Amino acid sequence: MTSHNVHPRSHHRRGGEPKATREHTMRAAVLHGVGKITLEERPRPEPGPREVLVRVASVGTCGSDVHYYEHGRIGDFVVESPLVLGHEPSGTVVAAGSGAGRHRLGQRVSLEPGVPDFTCPQCRAGRYNLCPRMRFFGTPPIDGAFCEYVVVHEEFAHPVPDALSDDAAALIEPLSVGVWSCGKARVGPGTRVLVTGAGPVGLLCLQAALAFGATDVMITDVNPVRLGLARDLGASATLDVREDRLADAAFDPDVLLECSGHPAAIGEAVRSVERAGRVVLVGMGGDEIPLPLAHVQTRELEVTGTFRYANTWPTAIELVVSGRVRLDALVTGHYGLAEVEQALTAGTRDPGLVKAVVQPQE
Ligand SMILES: [Zn+2]
Repeated sequence: MTSHNVHPRSHHRRGGEPKATREHTMRAAVLHGVGKITLEERPRPEPGPREVLVRVASVGTCGSDVHYYEHGRIGDFVVESPLVLGHEPSGTVVAAGSGAGRHRLGQRVSLEPGVPDFTCPQCRAGRYNLCPRMRFFGTPPIDGAFCEYVVVHEEFAHPVPDALSDDAAALIEPLSVGVWSCGKARVGPGTRVLVTGAGPVGLLCLQAALAFGATDVMITDVNPVRLGLARDLGASATLDVREDRLADAAFDPDVLLECSGHPAAIGEAVRSVERAGRVVLVGMGGDEIPLPLAHVQTRELEVTGTFRYANTWPTAIELVVSGRVRLDALVTGHYGLAEVEQALTAGTRDPGLVKAVVQPQE
């Protein structure tokens, strides 16, 4: 705008216009309804007070992205206008808004994708994941990170060392789910843990549990590729529930981290939990599921849900830097920004898929 005022005929200058225009725009993969994503040129966001502008490097794809793509909604969250998905981003700080002084330009960061209001009772109690005014990437109506640039509050752009790859820095987000779940379940030295579901979140709950001191971690799934990866990542036992019943496994865990979201699996897994055990519902299993309440009562089980995470990034980053958790091992494919639809549908074609990563600069 300024150059137009100073040089009213600047649009006649050779070659100037396209470059100047491109500096203020970016490419974004935009969801326009069920099963329809288009690549568009959009204005590049500008960092507001205490915000930084981040050039996005890697974005993990998540089951919730797939769900919005296939169904246009998750529960009460409904896609009513064009939406950019993607909430597992890493990148580089390239500009800072007023009052933002946490980073030098060029700092590599892992983005925590939900920014709360900082002032409500939940936020003041330290439970900012439960803030009712949370603005979360890729959740209607807030745009996510399947685009070249995003802005975020500087405190939610966590610096990462060069030892972390761009992909690993992105996958700090799902690892945070594992860290938060293990905290909720009070996993500690010697805890015996059952993880149901060996998708990305299950595999990260497994690794987080081992890092928290669990000695015996069994994981279940129906996918032999994922169970093999779970063994590589340190599972002490795996169970293919198509072939064997959990009830026959004689494993009575102190903690159940439910990551499958399958109602039938949840009931059977709860029945296996030892007295005074903890059950944490991590996966989404629909609004209502059967729960063996007699077991919950007579064994004094604690049953709780988890919703995202709070204050997990520093811990999650250190777990990866120290080698206790491996994130790059989960990445099974890379996709450019024009291939977001392929990234979101890869799981339907490839049973070996674990984590597809979008690289928006490609
Ligand atoms: Zn709040």
